[in-house]
Amino acid sequence: MAEPFKCPHCGAHDYVVVLTGCNITGATLHDAYTWSEEAQEYSFGGSLVVESETLENEGGSALCGGCEADVTDAVTAYQASQGDAAEGEA
Ligand SMILES: [Zn+2]
Repeated sequence: MAEPFKCPHCGAHDYVVVLTGCNITGATLHDAYTWSEEAQEYSFGGSLVVESETLENEGGSALCGGCEADVTDAVTAYQASQGDAAEGEA
């Protein structure tokens, strides 16, 4: 059974991965626009990649969804431990 990632700082299970230097082919994006009554204009919430044919990236980092600490090393170790059950224990 898979175990959730656990933040070493606050114990939260949610995390956000930010990928940099992406090379994406055949991607579908969602662009979010939110109307602000105060400013009387739309604010752009950014593009979200919903789907892509290929995605290559140069690097990335991970942030905890709870305390926003940098948990890149912990997430990398977690993903490695989930990838191949035969490896990682040694
Ligand atoms: Zn945390």
